[in-house]
Amino acid sequence: MKIAIVGGGISGLATAFYIRQKNPEVSITLFEKDEQIGGKMKTKEVKGFLFEEGSNGFLSNKPDTLELVKSSGCDDILMRSDDNARIRFIYKDALHQLPESPMAFLKSPLLTCKGKLRVATEYFRVPKVDDSDETLQSFGYRRVGKEMTDTFLDAMVAGIFASAPDKISVKSAFPAVAKLEREYGGLFKGMLAKRKKEAGPGGVLMSFKGGVSTFIDRLAKASKIEIKTGLHVKKIDKKDGEYTLQVDGKEESFDKVILSTPSYESANMLTEVDAKLSSILNSIEYSPISIVGLGYNELPHDLKGFGLLTTTSAKKEILGVLWDSSIFDDRAPKGKKSLRVMIGGQRNPELALKSDEELLEIAVRGVKETMGLDAVPDVSYVKRYERGIPNYRVGHLESMENLFEKLKDHKGLYLSSNAYYGVGLNDCVGNSKKMAEQILADM
Ligand SMILES: Cc1cc2nc3c(=O)[nH]c(=O)nc-3n(C[C@H](O)[C@H](O)[C@H](O)COP(=O)(O)OP(=O)(O)OC[C@H]3O[C@@H](n4cnc5c(N)ncnc54)[C@H](O)[C@@H]3O)c2cc1C
Repeated sequence: MKIAIVGGGISGLATAFYIRQKNPEVSITLFEKDEQIGGKMKTKEVKGFLFEEGSNGFLSNKPDTLELVKSSGCDDILMRSDDNARIRFIYKDALHQLPESPMAFLKSPLLTCKGKLRVATEYFRVPKVDDSDETLQSFGYRRVGKEMTDTFLDAMVAGIFASAPDKISVKSAFPAVAKLEREYGGLFKGMLAKRKKEAGPGGVLMSFKGGVSTFIDRLAKASKIEIKTGLHVKKIDKKDGEYTLQVDGKEESFDKVILSTPSYESANMLTEVDAKLSSILNSIEYSPISIVGLGYNELPHDLKGFGLLTTTSAKKEILGVLWDSSIFDDRAPKGKKSLRVMIGGQRNPELALKSDEELLEIAVRGVKETMGLDAVPDVSYVKRYERGIPNYRVGHLESMENLFEKLKDHKGLYLSSNAYYGVGLNDCVGNSKKMAEQILADM
């Protein structure tokens, strides 16, 4: 039995690990088009500063990534974020601390009294009767009101998906939130009921010593598979129950193929296998986003906290600033500090694709306007993604049902990436584990 995995991001690597864990004999080859594996999990070192090109960690309140870290023997590189990283800020008209308790919420200037009162009435709001999909904005306006949605939900969705409340589906992007209304009749009711059932501390942000690339490399080794980097899979053909991969002018056949690539890449590879499948894959939208890392030898700011997110109403060019060296202290050399600025997303898609120089200017200006810091960075690093994070539109779940139903026509072909059921590392790892279990059951 020969298995090919296309794509060496966390989804491809986790799928490989879980297949290998249960079956030491099967032949697994992973093809990655870049020279380095990791996909959106890559760490770039610049003059002693460690800048993450994508994700900087995962939350411990879901078991998936922690379990993978432990099973792959990577506990020794696990790193807990600084306790101060729980302090977060929102920039609306000025920089305000995100309230952490009901009392702090009541005192917070982020909402007017009317806005806070509207949030409090959520408990009594009648739940939606039908199960139809809607935007996060429509859900938020119904449940907690316009002010809360345009401030808290707006900043949160920019931070997680680089999206905007009116451009993303609540059921697909925040299934747990939608479920609270469906199962308990409201958010407060659901949270109170869950608190009774699931007493315990909330999640802590975790990462890895030396950055996420350290984990990626260790996971790849632990999987004991053949990894071929710098190889772009252009096309897949299906004949007599086998799949032939066309890779840089050569062909290789496999019994099973797992595509752990962005959906638009999978669509290109599958045009001749199934045009309908390819067309559904192509319909999944991605948000452009750029990350600008800034390193300072000296910075007159204590950076006590996780960082800030802006609201759309603030009309700033940046989505937010992560105070990297405060979150994980090995991200900057001793005594130095680093930030990462996020630009673009659904809010300002055109800004994400500016030149490196322009992005650096926008980042420095954004830091000045939101944090009042007029400092020139000593080191910088720019990473641009034309299609960075999948943006699940209203109707995404229904479209995924059609996609996976259609996939049943192709025994031995599997799809596993962040394009379908969640973009967080915990989602990618959890879904990859399920995928590996299905593949093992099909063998
Ligand atoms: C800027 C940013 C910040 C983020 N921050 C966080 C965070 O803090 N926490 C969190 O939980 N999540 C975060 N995420 C989300 C998370 O990082 C991603 O959802 C996850 O890493 C995606 O993994 P993946 O393996 O599904 O896809 P990818 O990482 O995109 O991997 C796909 C791989 O396939 C390869 N490939 C594509 N086409 C081909 C081909 N034809 N042939 C061969 N190889 C191919 C690509 O080169 C790539 O390596 C962030 C994402 C971004 C973009």
